[in-house]
Amino acid sequence: MEKSVLIIYTGGTIGMVNDPVTGLLCPFNFDQITLEVPEIREFGFKIDSYTLPEIIDSSDLRPALWGELCRVILANHERYHGFVILHGTDTMAYSASALSFMLDRLDKPVIFTGSQLPIGKIRTDGKENLVAAIEIAAAYDGDGPIVPEVGILFGARLFRGNRTTKFNAESFEAFQSFNYPPLAEIGIHVHYNREAIARRPPSPAPPVAFYRLDPRVAILKIFPGMSASVARAILSVPGLRGVVLETYGSGNAPTRAGFLDPLREALARGIVVYNVTQCAAGSVEMDKYATGRALLDAGVTSGRDITTEAAVCKMMHVLGKHDDPGEIREQLAANLKGEISIRE
Ligand code: ASP
Repeated sequence: MEKSVLIIYTGGTIGMVNDPVTGLLCPFNFDQITLEVPEIREFGFKIDSYTLPEIIDSSDLRPALWGELCRVILANHERYHGFVILHGTDTMAYSASALSFMLDRLDKPVIFTGSQLPIGKIRTDGKENLVAAIEIAAAYDGDGPIVPEVGILFGARLFRGNRTTKFNAESFEAFQSFNYPPLAEIGIHVHYNREAIARRPPSPAPPVAFYRLDPRVAILKIFPGMSASVARAILSVPGLRGVVLETYGSGNAPTRAGFLDPLREALARGIVVYNVTQCAAGSVEMDKYATGRALLDAGVTSGRDITTEAAVCKMMHVLGKHDDPGEIREQLAANLKGEISIRE
């Protein structure tokens, strides 16, 4: 079969133009992109595109888009060697994380990319990102794709999607993966870090998607001086099922009753609390300090070195799949798709 890549366009800066009236950047159509990068024809393989019905600034992203992306990928799975998703950078790490959990038995590259400057601007980073993403989506070793997972290609590096965070609003190196090495570095050659890339045991069964997500989650980021009423208000949101608790350092939080009591009450009501560190790098270790131990004793689940983006998406996915809080906690603690490091 002739080498082929499907580009799925969702919006984002890469395809934006300045509105002639307001001067603000707004999403534009995909033809704009191919006009700007005629070089992609030089790949010499089939490159098709699919534009989602509504193209958006990714700050307007809703989880329904993740289901749409899974549907497009699965409907076209047999026909293409790999997929490139053009997406705004603001929430790209959430989308890449969500797809990594929703898609099971994924055996082809799904590479997210975008840009900091629109593709029509003279200094755009969009062209290089797009070209590299296509190359990686089409990269095979014999019959097998080199990167059979969901990745984010940005600024000369490919990262595992669910390990990635947008950490710079201006630099062309907008993304980082603080707790996991890059899957590839793009220079004159593309250097794949094969040790870091997921190895999929060959499966005769095709990939599937699990579409049900439960968005009844909240992020509670602690800070010195946070009043008990703030914690209580968030933890008593009607219908709430899960909380990503952003703690200090290695998973520590205040030990005063004003914070721990509402937390214990929420846990007793069956709300699942997932401990994620506010630090960019490193891991939650709740048995290191007394301030972390109090959370462990209260029944909080460790997110280890997961990113907040991956934690939120994992929680929506796990809550969509399971009802029993014990089972939910077990799934959150487990490494589902390479999103956390479990030290034996
Ligand atoms: N606001 C834009 C978006 O996320 C930013 C970007 O694409 O870089 O869609």
